[in-house]
Amino acid sequence: MNKKKELRLRLPFRILIVFLGVLVVVTSYYPIRSIYKLHNHKYSLDTSIDMYKDGIYSYVIDKEYSETLDKIYGEEGYNPDRIDDYMSIKYYDRDNFLNNINKLLDLGYKIDEINNIYAKTSDKFIEKLTSKYIYDIGKYLAIDYFKEENYDRYIEYFNGSYQKTVLHVNIGLDKDYYQDPNNVDKFSITMLVNKYNKLDKDFVPDDLVLIDSNYSDEEIYLNKQAADAFLEMCVAAEKEGLHMKANSGYRDYDTQEKLYNYYLKLYGKSYNDKFVTLPGFSEHQTGLGVDIKSTSSKVFKNSKEYKWVLKNSYKYGFIHRFPESKVNITGIHSESWHFRYVGVETATKVYQQGLSYEEYYAMYLDK
Ligand SMILES: [Zn+2]
Repeated sequence: MNKKKELRLRLPFRILIVFLGVLVVVTSYYPIRSIYKLHNHKYSLDTSIDMYKDGIYSYVIDKEYSETLDKIYGEEGYNPDRIDDYMSIKYYDRDNFLNNINKLLDLGYKIDEINNIYAKTSDKFIEKLTSKYIYDIGKYLAIDYFKEENYDRYIEYFNGSYQKTVLHVNIGLDKDYYQDPNNVDKFSITMLVNKYNKLDKDFVPDDLVLIDSNYSDEEIYLNKQAADAFLEMCVAAEKEGLHMKANSGYRDYDTQEKLYNYYLKLYGKSYNDKFVTLPGFSEHQTGLGVDIKSTSSKVFKNSKEYKWVLKNSYKYGFIHRFPESKVNITGIHSESWHFRYVGVETATKVYQQGLSYEEYYAMYLDK
């Protein structure tokens, strides 16, 4: 009797429970589905829940996943009005990311610029950019070989062309010759030694060998690769009835020093500034530079060999190192006779692009 009564009392209660249960399922279906969809769209669960709560589900779900939005959503400083901007900015795991992109946006930097700033500069440089608006930073950042550490020098040197400014300053042209040069201590076929890049007194290139005696009147050394290529080039020229020999190759520091002092006494400093470098700054110390002479003409510049070698040397890995058109960059007055071994691939590019080696090096090798 009692049990029956209990059942009767319990029945409506049970219906209520089922009804409430159905209600909960129905009302939570939409949020759970939305959060699930956001999460499935790659957003973290926390961000997905917050986005749903904030009512931006439908705004976000149709757009591409944004790692930036995912990472900064709801953080201190997050500005809902900037959601589109945030979504267009690529995420970088960097100090004060949200704060700094807010500052950059406040200052008026464009989205593309901000993306470029993060892709190409360090936090230290970003600090500079967040403290004041630099209207032309985009122009600098568009140049592949832009170096943030040289930025102040670019401003100081600026010559009307962003590309040339960056290139020239990277080469060192804003500084006086021999003034705080970079130290070069590793031998490589593509190494750069000039008035801004210095070798130690005791630097000796790899694999020095004597040049074949048929192609030099005295004992002249070059790096083996360069010597082999020089021989190959001379033999090829001979097939066309042209005769070349090496006039100078590897010179050690002390020899260059003697040479410098000899010419200093003879012709004075302004002559040396144009033609003779201080010891440590001469390409001859790399064992990759060779002075060529013609056996037919005393003045190499007037010889058929000179014309031939200008056109063909790149095929053997040599570049004409100090052409007249590049004096303002090389800092060495036209030396028709001085060729530099850099390997066939590099020589071909330098030749085809009509660059000095300084320009080529700054644009492609100086990373
Ligand atoms: Zn030379």
